[in-house]
Amino acid sequence: MDHVPFKHKRTTLERAEKFISPHYFTDINLRSRLYRERGALTSIKHFAVQDRVSLNKALQGHFKKTCIGEAFGPVWSTHWFELEVTIPASWQGQEVHLLWDSGSEALVWVQGQPVQGLNSDSRTSYPLTRKVEASKLHHIVHIEMACNHLFGIGNLALVKPEDDQRTFTLKQAEIALFDRDVYNLILDVETLHDIAKELPDCNQRSYQALYTVNEMINQIEVQDRSTYKRAQEIAQEFFQQTNGESQHTVYAMGHAHIDTAWLWPYDETKRKCARSWSCTLRLMEKYPDFTFVCSQAQQYAWVKQLYPSIWEDICKFVRTGQFVPVGGTWVEMDGNIPNGEACIRQFLYGQNFFQKEFGVKCKEFWLPDTFGYSAQFPQIMRHCGVSRFLTQKLSWSLVNKFPHHTFYWEGIDGSVVLTHFPPGDSYEMKGKVQELLKTIHNFKDKGRSNCSAFLFGYGDGGHGPREDMLGRLERLKDCDGLPKIKLASSDAFFSNIEAERPNRLCRWRGELYLELHNGTYTTWAKVKKYNRQCEILLQETELLCTMAWVQRSMQKSGSTDYHYPKAKLDALWKLLLLNQFHDVLPGSSINMVFHDAINFYKEIVSSCASLINTALRIYHGACTERHSPDLEPFLVNTQPFARREVIKLSHLDSPRPSPKRRKLAGADASLEEDNDATHVEVQIPSYCVKPLSECTIPDQSKSQVTIEREDDQTVLTNDKLKVTMDSLGRVTSLLCYDAVTNRWSQEAIDSVHPANQFLLYDDVPLYWDAWDVMDYHLETRKPIVTPIQRLRVDEDSNPTHVSLEVSLQISDKSYLQQKIILEAGSPFVRFDTEITWHENRKFLKVEFPTTIHATECTYDIQSGFLRRPNHFNTSWDSARFEVCGHKWADLSEHGFGVSVLNNCKYGYSAVDGILRLSLLRSPKSPDFKADMGVHTFSYAVMPHNGSFQEAGVIQAANSFNCPLRVVDLPPLPTDLIEPKEGAGINKSLFEINTSQVLVQTVKMAEDGSPTIIVRLNETFGGSVVATLTSKLKFTDVHVCDGLEDLHNEDKELEWHIRPHYSKGTP
Ligand SMILES: [Zn+2]
Repeated sequence: MDHVPFKHKRTTLERAEKFISPHYFTDINLRSRLYRERGALTSIKHFAVQDRVSLNKALQGHFKKTCIGEAFGPVWSTHWFELEVTIPASWQGQEVHLLWDSGSEALVWVQGQPVQGLNSDSRTSYPLTRKVEASKLHHIVHIEMACNHLFGIGNLALVKPEDDQRTFTLKQAEIALFDRDVYNLILDVETLHDIAKELPDCNQRSYQALYTVNEMINQIEVQDRSTYKRAQEIAQEFFQQTNGESQHTVYAMGHAHIDTAWLWPYDETKRKCARSWSCTLRLMEKYPDFTFVCSQAQQYAWVKQLYPSIWEDICKFVRTGQFVPVGGTWVEMDGNIPNGEACIRQFLYGQNFFQKEFGVKCKEFWLPDTFGYSAQFPQIMRHCGVSRFLTQKLSWSLVNKFPHHTFYWEGIDGSVVLTHFPPGDSYEMKGKVQELLKTIHNFKDKGRSNCSAFLFGYGDGGHGPREDMLGRLERLKDCDGLPKIKLASSDAFFSNIEAERPNRLCRWRGELYLELHNGTYTTWAKVKKYNRQCEILLQETELLCTMAWVQRSMQKSGSTDYHYPKAKLDALWKLLLLNQFHDVLPGSSINMVFHDAINFYKEIVSSCASLINTALRIYHGACTERHSPDLEPFLVNTQPFARREVIKLSHLDSPRPSPKRRKLAGADASLEEDNDATHVEVQIPSYCVKPLSECTIPDQSKSQVTIEREDDQTVLTNDKLKVTMDSLGRVTSLLCYDAVTNRWSQEAIDSVHPANQFLLYDDVPLYWDAWDVMDYHLETRKPIVTPIQRLRVDEDSNPTHVSLEVSLQISDKSYLQQKIILEAGSPFVRFDTEITWHENRKFLKVEFPTTIHATECTYDIQSGFLRRPNHFNTSWDSARFEVCGHKWADLSEHGFGVSVLNNCKYGYSAVDGILRLSLLRSPKSPDFKADMGVHTFSYAVMPHNGSFQEAGVIQAANSFNCPLRVVDLPPLPTDLIEPKEGAGINKSLFEINTSQVLVQTVKMAEDGSPTIIVRLNETFGGSVVATLTSKLKFTDVHVCDGLEDLHNEDKELEWHIRPHYSKGTP
């Protein structure tokens, strides 16, 4: 009888480890038997192309012989291989794999169709046949090799800039006999080893696993396959000891997070989808219980277009419920920067795609990898018919641990969505024991809920689930000591929470702020600027096209020869939405991604210009069949409120002789007149196109600007503001006039610290260069005070528009020029800024130290506002040292406040009454060239009496971002200006009786019917009764949601609207 030794845990664990190790004892251990025999390929032929060409096109090329050891490049090139395979007759009846490792990503093509992705990191085998048949020994296989790996072409660490010199070497190309019994035994041994290791010593199940794996190894004679069966039985006995009923259930979903662009360009993503999803489809064929959740309609659309056979399989498995569309959005967008309308369009285009292609709408919003989540998301989700949300990124927060994994998330209007963070803190699990244990140990809502989600599969660069992951989950699905596992869809998971005891769940109100990656509000400024511009431009284009359609229809009694350019607008919106992907808009991609992004933006800008041009001409031409050669300047207001402001005209546009040239007051004011242009104060109703001559304000003298200069100080005054500046252009005093009391206000600017002070900070993060600005940067504040040109009056100045100019040296490499502008009647001082920027890890901000005593600062967000602390009381407050806001931020105390407006910036910070706007960063990775060069942008400071709502800050910021347009059009015939029906072309399209509610969008309906969609938005944060009036006559009025699904019918255009609420009406 054998002597039974005392079992030492560490040595036993290591014994098991070595038994299946790919590194140790590989000549005799179990893993050495995984591929029992190997054979060379009959031939390998190769054809190189620079572009990503199709197989059919490649086959027209000349394939030449190549061999293992050969290196291929350059980076991003494509290499096609033709492999001739002859399986030895002796391998009949057995499973044979093709083993391929080109140090890169690759796609296997068989009989002209893509069948499975490969990559050197996680998948180097393709099952050529599960069972060799005598008649099928000869195979031709094509491989499409992409000269990049899963994480692009970076070197050393994945967030390093591209290494464009690297090549990719063919390391392995052979066939091998695969032993599935050995494969299964390896998984048994590994899983038992992991249970023994990961469960604590106090848990007897750990020791049961330890003794079981030890017994298995004793049983196996690796050379003798007849010993395998008993070992498998030993493992099975262990795995079949089941859990009790109370055990936590993990809902496991296969997933492949594919970044739509990141360390690779959009075009490579299209191939990543094919590589990843083909692998997943092969697994589905083999494992009918396996479910895979997949987001981003854009990626589906690419695969539909480029890979018909993969698309056919996807459709088949969507029908079986295995391939599960989730998320409902066009792409997984950034969660901070897109505006409200763009967020709605993400859902509109995403859900419409899934509905059209698969007959389903997603029930959850899916955004596992975005850098913080707007407080308006619950409302936007609800507005788009979605009530559930999944992410995990908040687990990355540096300072504070978020207190929940399953909870209700409440938005600014009170909308609530059921929210889950997979407690394993990852969307790329491998089905390992330690991940399952982390999932249950980490889960913060024990007692309130007893289930959690578990997303498994390789991600970021894609590739998705592997067979071994399914093997582990199958072994552990009901194994005592570990959570229960269900392979399921996200719908099944959320439905289970809803069925549990949902009233026990806690509620989180406001934004889900990620305490990391807050440099992404600023990095790649040009992309952010284009994003703001294109968001507004697309909405203007839709409005003007709708107005053209309406006008034409009214002229033609209902029928129109003008076709609303829906297909073109859809295509342009999709380009914008694509660029809002969570590594593009945040600026965290490699340089080549931004080349594509900027080209897409340019296409939006030029196409919108042409659509607007056509729409305005149709709008006007519709009034008359006569075509006049005499053009007249017209003013176009695309905003939903009346405006009064100064515009700049060329002399050609001038509606009257140049204004009387008045001498400016002040010592330096030697300029009396304009050069080539003139400025004129105008007013115009909401949503209106009107002859400029009817918009000019007759007596402009009251609101005009005066200038006084004394010593170092320059004072500009109009009827609303008095601003004092020093010779560096810094604001030393700022007052606003109260027309009710006829007094100047309190001082807005801290007397010790001037405003409009530029600051340079050191900006060296710990790891994620483009993403992160760390709290310690605040300790390196350096004011920029070196003048190149001290403040002087610009030649462009006149009493309607005074412009001062200043230039400052930022460093020996960087400098800035600024025009400080006050215009007649304007409630704000405007700063038009041009910066030449060549820094390395520096952060440029501009500072406004105010006199405001306030606990909170208010920030413009998607379609509303959010209050955040103006102090660092707690770790939660101080971790928000850099936050995201949109067009304005405001510090107010009772009766008085100061707002800062901008036309393309998103980073702010506020503490102790000092408001800072983040301007430029200079990270070097993953894009070495990020933000280098010349930048132009504008911001403004607006002191105000009363609250920001009463003072019109929201309207001012919208106008600031959307200048009035002046266009030359044929003059209008009188009968159309005042037609009998009352629908005069000069009249506003829509008006609302309260400034509290703004029209967010006017567009034609998605379904192509003659229906106008009008989206209203309560902007002040209070209840109100709003009445919409229009020059149009409607036959029906309905309330609809963001997907334009009708909810109920209204008789009147009057609604009670709750705070922050969005309402759509067709
Ligand atoms: Zn991502």
